[in-house]
Amino acid sequence: MKPKERLAIPRQHPKELSPEERIHNFKEVTFGFDEETAILEANRCLQCKKPACIAGCPIHNDIPAFIALLRERKFEEAYWKVRETSTMPSVCSRVCPHEFQCEGSCVRGKKGESVAIGMLERYLTDWMVANGKNMYRECAQANGKKVAIVGSGPAGMTVAHILSHQGYQCTIFESLPIFGGMLSVGIPHYRLPRDIIGAELYALKHCGVEIVYGTTIGEDKTLAQLRQEGFASVFLGVGAHESRKLGIEGEDGTEGVLHGVDYLRRVLSGEDLDIGNRVVVVGGGNVAIDVARVALRRGSKDVFLLYRRTKEEMPASKMEIHHLEEEGVRIEMLAAPVRILQENGKLTAIECVRMELGEPDASGRRRPVAKEGSNFIIEADAIIPAISQKVRHNADKGVELASESWGTYRVDPKTLQSTSVEWIFAGGDDVLGPQTVAKAVYQGKVAAESMHRYMQGIDMLEGRDLTCYMVDW
Ligand code: SF4
Repeated sequence: MKPKERLAIPRQHPKELSPEERIHNFKEVTFGFDEETAILEANRCLQCKKPACIAGCPIHNDIPAFIALLRERKFEEAYWKVRETSTMPSVCSRVCPHEFQCEGSCVRGKKGESVAIGMLERYLTDWMVANGKNMYRECAQANGKKVAIVGSGPAGMTVAHILSHQGYQCTIFESLPIFGGMLSVGIPHYRLPRDIIGAELYALKHCGVEIVYGTTIGEDKTLAQLRQEGFASVFLGVGAHESRKLGIEGEDGTEGVLHGVDYLRRVLSGEDLDIGNRVVVVGGGNVAIDVARVALRRGSKDVFLLYRRTKEEMPASKMEIHHLEEEGVRIEMLAAPVRILQENGKLTAIECVRMELGEPDASGRRRPVAKEGSNFIIEADAIIPAISQKVRHNADKGVELASESWGTYRVDPKTLQSTSVEWIFAGGDDVLGPQTVAKAVYQGKVAAESMHRYMQGIDMLEGRDLTCYMVDW
């Protein structure tokens, strides 16, 4: 096919559940491509000599290589090409914000629409499952060393996956009764079906990874105890599960005020939580959008998103914003909360102020400025601030772990080794702050390599591709 013909193919879009149907359930919203659509989409790739998409992918998947195999219908080979770099393509292909990563860098996006890299990756993982193909790597012989992993999110899973395949006996300590960290209690089923997480769990167990549920390191057991029990190295992948607060009057102690990740954790863990009909969610990121869409599915009728800038500046994925609006959530733009109103300790409304956009701030986005005298009231049964998350420092108890002033663990950025305790490594959201699954996977890969070197007495840096490790997120 000539480049001109490739350029003439429009981007293919997957079928989706209708908004009317999906707001009543947690079924996956987006269907995958069928074979012919996947081939057509793969044919849009120009096989660039200097593929910008690889640089845009946090784990540096060889995107043109797997697309080339896919369009030759070598689906199994294409899948294993992705697995050369990615531990969990079935997860990343569904939940990563591709428009800000690989697809955001694709050359085709400059004068039109980028190649649908995420959907092609998903096609391969779905094809492997549908065709009953083996998706496991061969397990290694035990090497006699034990590794503890705190947290079963994507960073911890990646460390366990890599080290168990090198012969280490890995034990994951998870404080919740379910596996997957943020994947399970932060991402709704309609974006990430639970059988996908279950398959990741199964793959780890296949190579002998042990999961200890309901154990919070720092409370039920300390890091020092883990060391005494013979764990040669510990990885902290505890995520960032504590909601940041708005810091406004009435936020604490008012019935009807919940916080974003707490709400998601409770509902996605199976709690039957009724928060009323009229719900105001504060924030513009993916967590805020997940909260609003989950509230709709849990029966709330009138759901608003309150965001202090405009839709264009929202950090959430464009697809998620599109789905949100399709489902009937209203976005109240250029508005910020001022205080929460209550009667006898029960929420009645939220007072807001209109904003306008001023000069760009450090993030490059225009700074919202309050318009004097523009306050207004929205009555509500529930207010859910979902502006960001921070690290909950349970695990540190009894160990002097260095942290940054904003609360993440302080680590050597080349190795992810703690700067204060040499046998401890950390990665994912507890180092980066709330970030994408692909970035957590990347850090899991870096940490696993460092832990292996540490435990085997190999120089931490020699022979490593530091250009990859020095990427500044
Ligand atoms: Fe294909 Fe886009 Fe990557 Fe070029 S940048 S190789 S067109 S996916």
